[in-house]
Amino acid sequence: MSARPSVVVVGAGLSGLAAAWELSGGAPGDPDAPRIEVLEAAARVGGPLVLGDLDGQRIDLGPDGFLARRPEARTLIEELGLAEDLIDIGASGASLWLRGQLRPLPRSLALGVPTSRAALRELGGLSWHARAAAWRDGLAPRALRVGDDASIGQIVRTKLGDEIARTVVEPLVGGIQAGRIDDLSAALLLPGLLAAAQRGGSLLRALAASAPAPAAAAGPAFHSLRGGLGSLPQALVEHLAARGVVVRTGAAVQALRRVTGEHPLVVETATTATPADAVVMATPAPVTAALLGSWDPDLAALGAVRYAAAAMITASYPEASAPLPAGTGVLVPLGTPWAGGGTLIVTALTFLDRKWEPLRQPGRVLVRAHVGRSDDQRYAAFDDEHLSARVADEISVLLGWSTRPIAAHVQRFLPGLPQYVVGYRDLIAPARAAAQRAGVDLAGSTYDGVGIPAAIGSGRRAARAALTRLAARP
Ligand SMILES: Cc1cc2nc3c(=O)[nH]c(=O)nc-3n(C[C@H](O)[C@H](O)[C@H](O)COP(=O)(O)OP(=O)(O)OC[C@H]3O[C@@H](n4cnc5c(N)ncnc54)[C@H](O)[C@@H]3O)c2cc1C
Repeated sequence: MSARPSVVVVGAGLSGLAAAWELSGGAPGDPDAPRIEVLEAAARVGGPLVLGDLDGQRIDLGPDGFLARRPEARTLIEELGLAEDLIDIGASGASLWLRGQLRPLPRSLALGVPTSRAALRELGGLSWHARAAAWRDGLAPRALRVGDDASIGQIVRTKLGDEIARTVVEPLVGGIQAGRIDDLSAALLLPGLLAAAQRGGSLLRALAASAPAPAAAAGPAFHSLRGGLGSLPQALVEHLAARGVVVRTGAAVQALRRVTGEHPLVVETATTATPADAVVMATPAPVTAALLGSWDPDLAALGAVRYAAAAMITASYPEASAPLPAGTGVLVPLGTPWAGGGTLIVTALTFLDRKWEPLRQPGRVLVRAHVGRSDDQRYAAFDDEHLSARVADEISVLLGWSTRPIAAHVQRFLPGLPQYVVGYRDLIAPARAAAQRAGVDLAGSTYDGVGIPAAIGSGRRAARAALTRLAARP
C-alpha cells in the first residue's frame, strides 16, 4: 500500500460509528492504518438514539432495546468493555386492543402471524368470519402464486382473510416498520412467511412447522444497557477518540467530488475539504442520492426510497391509580375508532419500567406511546402540549385509567424508518454496486435492515469492504 490512506465516514448514526470502529480496529501503531474522519450533520451523534430526563430520571427517549438473537450489538458492546451494563428485558408478551378490550396475544406466533387455529381462539375478539378463514386455511387452503416476492399483506389477506391481516398482523408487523403490510416486502422482512406461502397449502401449518423449537426461543428476546441505549453512541465516540478517529458534529457533508491526484475523492463540508481514498456513506438514502446521484442513475434512484416519520410520547403516571395489563405493552390496530371522532392515533404502548428493571421507581409507572406510520402523520399537526393531551386521553381509554400523567415528554423523529416495499431490492443492489465502483460503500438501515444490530452489522461490513479495497491498491 502507498501513503497512509484516508477514509471518511459520512453520518454518525450507529452504522457510521460502527464503520469507524471497524476501520480503526487494526493493530495499534500500524503505519499503514487509515486516517479516519467521521462527519455528522447534526449537533449530536447516534441518530434516533437519545437520552433525556423525565420525572427526575434519565431514560431513553429513542430506541430502548435491541433484539437479543442477533449478535452484532452485543458483540460491539462487549468490545467496548460494557458487557456488565447489558440488561435483559424484564417481561414478555403483550396485548392487542380488539373490540374495545385488551386481549393477551397468543404465545404461538411465528413472524407475527398466529400459527394455529387454537392460537386464534386464544386471542379472542375475532369475528366468526376471521375464524372461518383460519379454518378454511387448514382444510381447503386458498391458492396463491408468489414469485420471489409478495407483500406481507397479500400473503396474509389471501390465506387468512382481511380481518386477521388488519387486526393481528398489521399492528404486529406493520408497527415495527411504521409501515403498511400491503406495501412491505415479505422477501426482505419476513422471508419465512414468503417461504411458507411458496410451499403452497396451509399457511398456518407451514408457519407452525418453521417456528423455532422452544429451546431455541428461550432466553431474553431483547437487551438494553443499564444507563440507557442512548449511551452507546457516546461510548463509541469516546473509544474512537482513543484510537485517534476524528468525529465532527455539526459538519454536514455538502459535496463528494471525484478528483485526480493522490486521493481519488474529496469530501466537502461548508468549511472543510477532506481528501479520501475510500468513503463510507452512512446517511439516509435521499442524502446519498443528492450527494452521489450525478455519478450514476442507480445512485440517483435512491431518492425514491420512502421513509416513515414517527414520534414517541413518554409519560410518568402515579402507580396506585394505574394498574397495568400483563406484558410489555399494547398494540392498537389501525383504524380503531376514537370517541372524539376519527380513529386513534396511538399505534402501540410500551411499559418502559416493566421492560427495564433499572427504570423501576416506587409509586409511578412509565408508559410510552408510539404514533406515526408511513401513511398516518396526523400527529405532526399537533404541538407538543396538544399531542401529550391527546395521547393521555387515548391511554385513558386503552388502559382504563382516570389519572393524568405527572410528566410527559414528546420526542419527534426525522423520517428515519425506511420502507422495505416490494421491489426494494431492485433499487438497493444496483446503487450499492455503483457506489462501490466509485470507491464508496453504503451502510445503514436503508440497505441491510432496520434495527440496531442490523445497523451495526451494516456499518462494520461496509468498513471491511473499504479496507479490502484499500489493501488491494497497487
Ligand atoms: C423512532 C424510532 C424508534 C426505533 N426503535 C428501535 C428499537 O427500539 N430497537 C431497534 O433495534 N431499532 C430501533 N429503531 C431503528 C434503529 O434505531 C435504526 O435502524 C438505526 O439507529 C439506524 O442507524 P443508521 O446509522 O442506519 O441511521 P441514522 O441513525 O439515521 O444515521 C444517519 C446519520 O446521517 C446523518 N446525516 C444526514 N445527512 C448528513 C450529511 N449531509 N452529512 C453528514 N451526516 C449526515 C444524520 O444526521 C444521522 O445521524 C428505531 C428507529 C426509529 C426512527
